[in-house]
Amino acid sequence: MRRLLFAANWKMHLPPHEAREYVKVFLLRYRTRPDREVWFFPPAVSLEPVAHAVRDRSDLRAGAQNIHWESKGAFTGELSPAMASHAGARATLVGHSERRHLFGETDAETSRKVMAALKAELTPVLCVGETLEEREAGQTLAVVTRQLEAALAGLDGETLGKLVVAYEPVWAIGTGRNATPQDAAQVHAAIRRWLQSGTRKAKLTRVLYGGSVNLKNIAELLAEPELDGVLVGGASLDPEGWATLAQTGAA
Ligand code: PEP
Repeated sequence: MRRLLFAANWKMHLPPHEAREYVKVFLLRYRTRPDREVWFFPPAVSLEPVAHAVRDRSDLRAGAQNIHWESKGAFTGELSPAMASHAGARATLVGHSERRHLFGETDAETSRKVMAALKAELTPVLCVGETLEEREAGQTLAVVTRQLEAALAGLDGETLGKLVVAYEPVWAIGTGRNATPQDAAQVHAAIRRWLQSGTRKAKLTRVLYGGSVNLKNIAELLAEPELDGVLVGGASLDPEGWATLAQTGAA
């Protein structure tokens, strides 16, 4: 049984004083539901207060937005997996489209980050997705498969079962233009086929959808059984709205 997962990517928003206030409001508004988890990905400076506030909750978790694959050294501006873990992170985003497209992160780098995260016992949330140009050229499934192969090919089914894949079409992130549930389901099904192919047979990996998810479209997205949850940027920044969004849907 895969529990639904609602993941909040705060991007470069909510510094520590605002993050503390946010979590207080969220905890007042959010009623635990046994069928789901809510994970928060604050900016690195807000990781510790958020992780501290949710430390006693098995259904809530804090994670890093990005890590480096090395454990320490001369890497100005970077965060090691162990540092994230010491700050309370139990997961990390890897290969978010803003990392890939704004900061030039390559498939090879996402692979190193996935391995480093696993070694530090951080659950990787691997983000994959095509650009508008690639979609229009009919390359969506080829791009997504290439990103999966590059980042995860060496992993066995048991390890794959513990991680999370987020399908986030680049054209849908922060644009107000979400994929239809049917579009998302088609790509999710392909991701699931890849996860179960060959000797992998990974059935427990959660596959999320991300890209302009909000209070208006969450119900119809979650009605699609291929989706195990959502990764949300903009609509996760308001704690009351996020608490409502994360309580939407079946069970
Ligand atoms: C994201 O940052 O992963 C994301 C999906 O952003 P938004 O919900 O704002 O499109």
